[in-house]
Amino acid sequence: MEDNKASTVVCSVLGMDHTNFCYRVCSVCERTLPENPSSLCKFCNCNNNNSVSSSKRLFRLLISIATDTKVKVVICFDRAARVFFGCSADHFFDFAKLHPFAAVTASKVLQGEMFKMTFTKPKNGNAQHLRVTTVVPLSSGFKPAIEILREKYGVRVGS
Ligand SMILES: [Zn+2]
Repeated sequence: MEDNKASTVVCSVLGMDHTNFCYRVCSVCERTLPENPSSLCKFCNCNNNNSVSSSKRLFRLLISIATDTKVKVVICFDRAARVFFGCSADHFFDFAKLHPFAAVTASKVLQGEMFKMTFTKPKNGNAQHLRVTTVVPLSSGFKPAIEILREKYGVRVGS
């Protein structure tokens, strides 16, 4: 039995923290790495001398939501956040490098969208935010942010 109870709510997104939506991890072991692009995973590079590990990005996103009774800030990790973005964090990060307002725009397109979300209480008692484990868009016309951004910026899929 899990002692951290999951709860499911229907809510709308009020906004997201678009200034800090992803973090770097080692692409082998997924340990968190510092933001400094030249820092490599100490763990993998010590244990595997043949190859230098690389890094990738995962989403970690704070969003504010409104249920029928309250407003709260919750945290989405990679799997849940991909529903909003429709792509990997690496892809979105690269897109945002070319289109500096992409993250702001993504935040705007999500505003007001309705979702069914499942939360779990953080296992770490010090963590402040409920963690979003599943996200289901309720609007049949929902498009993930990357699709809207590609249309907006005229970027063809695959280019
Ligand atoms: Zn590693």
